[in-house]
Amino acid sequence: MPPTPTVTAAWDVRVKLRLIPDIRIFTPDVGRSGVGLSLASRCESCGMPMPTNEDHGAHDPDNPYCIHCTDLDGKLLPFEKKFDELVASTMDTRWMSREEAERSVREQLLQMPAWRSKVEKLMAKTQATTQTPTQTPSAQS
Ligand SMILES: [Zn+2]
Repeated sequence: MPPTPTVTAAWDVRVKLRLIPDIRIFTPDVGRSGVGLSLASRCESCGMPMPTNEDHGAHDPDNPYCIHCTDLDGKLLPFEKKFDELVASTMDTRWMSREEAERSVREQLLQMPAWRSKVEKLMAKTQATTQTPTQTPSAQS
């Protein structure tokens, strides 16, 4: 299967220009930009498209995680490590406070198969100690 050159090229350029840092989360929304990403599998941890074997952890095409989310053996990095990396990178690139960045990263990781349950647990824990954000579904009063 031929790789998808447009995607890779665009991706490389953006990484080189630092428009997108190496560490980042690709939400499913990325696909809406019109780039055909359907052929490439996506990292289940950060959502990065993985058009070639080299993009997969341990260069194994069956590895559902990308090279940035795995160690040399292709094992998924610990949640805490990945989370810290993403928070730091979000603070750097989006000029957010740590608190804002953590919230943003949590929200994005909720969409990732690799982390969904972890984040849900984490949020259940923090919600027990902090105030529950008030989400009024539709005020009927
Ligand atoms: Zn990844």
